[in-house]
Amino acid sequence: MKKLKSLPLAAKIFLGLALGIVAGVCFLPAPQLAVDYIKPFGTIFLNLIQFIVVPIVFFSIICGVISMKDIKKVGSVGVKTLIYYACTTAIAIAIGLAIANAFRGLFPVLTVSDLTYEAKEAPTIMETIVNIFPSNIIKPFADASMLQVIVASLFFGFAIILVGEKAQPFASFVESVNEVCMKIMEMIIALSPIGVFCLITPVVAENGPQILGTLTIVLLAAYIGYILQAVLVYSTTVKAMGGVGIRDFFKGMGPAMMMAFSSASSVGTLPLNLECSEKLGARKDIAAFTLPLGATINMGGTAIYQGVCSLFIASCFGVTLTMPQMLTIIFTATLASVGTAGVPSAGMIMLAMVLQSVGLPVEGIALVAGVDRIFDMGRTTINITGDAACAIIVSRMEDRREARKAAKENGAA
Ligand code: ASP
Repeated sequence: MKKLKSLPLAAKIFLGLALGIVAGVCFLPAPQLAVDYIKPFGTIFLNLIQFIVVPIVFFSIICGVISMKDIKKVGSVGVKTLIYYACTTAIAIAIGLAIANAFRGLFPVLTVSDLTYEAKEAPTIMETIVNIFPSNIIKPFADASMLQVIVASLFFGFAIILVGEKAQPFASFVESVNEVCMKIMEMIIALSPIGVFCLITPVVAENGPQILGTLTIVLLAAYIGYILQAVLVYSTTVKAMGGVGIRDFFKGMGPAMMMAFSSASSVGTLPLNLECSEKLGARKDIAAFTLPLGATINMGGTAIYQGVCSLFIASCFGVTLTMPQMLTIIFTATLASVGTAGVPSAGMIMLAMVLQSVGLPVEGIALVAGVDRIFDMGRTTINITGDAACAIIVSRMEDRREARKAAKENGAA
């Protein structure tokens, strides 16, 4: 027992995952028992993560902004961060579409008749843009509208910098609340081995090997895409622009990737991701801004999933997508992944927007909903790897920019 307690969290989570799969197989003859009595504890775990997500994102972005002390610097870091996130997300969907195209011959054409997924109406692109800006101070927090929460936190952060001395007590208060929220998240995350066990058991018990059978090909396609994105895009850019070797990068990111894989929540992985990326050379002030922002808006893995699944669903309905339709998917999936909060299953809901953009039946989501958790574990891992890569690269770029500036000033003096 003592030995078990002293295991690192990642090992405990892995144990929870493995035991959960074994328990799921044991529950195969009576899956309802697992759903009725084990799943609710998994739901409690997810609810707790959702409960703390909004304050974590809000306060940590304010802290990130004020730790940079200078609006110009926030602008410079912000622009670099957004460019990296946008470019890598677009590449991610292109990878997703290319892989899915290569696999298309293997996707089954189904005679689908009993689809039951009820999608919410997806907003149009213009509505999405308007919806980024809050019209009420409480609503974004109550509705957990993450983009609005980000906008609000940027306003608060900038205002604190501009007010200066008089805002110091408020800044200290925000920093203190942020510490407390991070502690709460740590406490919730400490429960993840149990949470993961309770979440995975009913999935295996309910779906069993047969559902995995039909969806293995599409899962495989998505996972190949995830791996390509991590290796070809994130680790190579970190090596080229951040000066961290590929092996060192993955070794250093191990604990955070493990946590993301088990929790399926980018925001839940934030504290560990901050730790890992700082050890890999990301600056504290920059990571404090880039990571919480990325946990909400940067979703390379989710984008790959949306690319693969749209093509899979199209193929199941016997539809062959044209090039302009694929470009529409790239555009919409980029937006959809930005609007996705870093909590489990959010990406699946946004898939509706992508399907609608090319006129595919939204009910097609039902085809992949059963194994969404398995997609989600992989896409979340990729999402947080991209956030960390960005923090490391932008830190290096800012170091260089500051060094150049200092050299110029010294030269001038
Ligand atoms: N679970 C993902 C994340 O937290 C979001 C998604 O469902 O794609 O990054």
